[in-house]
Amino acid sequence: MTECTNASTSSPVDRPAPGVLPAIGTLTARQQRGIDCVWCGIPLTLDNAVDVPGEHYFRRLDTRTRWYPRSCRHHTT
Ligand SMILES: [Zn+2]
Repeated sequence: MTECTNASTSSPVDRPAPGVLPAIGTLTARQQRGIDCVWCGIPLTLDNAVDVPGEHYFRRLDTRTRWYPRSCRHHTT
């Protein structure tokens, strides 16, 4: 694991637009469950996991279900 010594949180990095999550149907089961980063799919740990802000829902059959996606710090806005 590489240490990140850049303390700045405002510098632009290569990432998708904030708040625009991938379609849940395109994600792996691990990404859907917050085990892997919802953006890049790397395994999340207590040190690098961040909850994606906001409320997220997906439809399964006719049910609207709350979703709690998580991402790595690199993809946190
Ligand atoms: Zn990521």
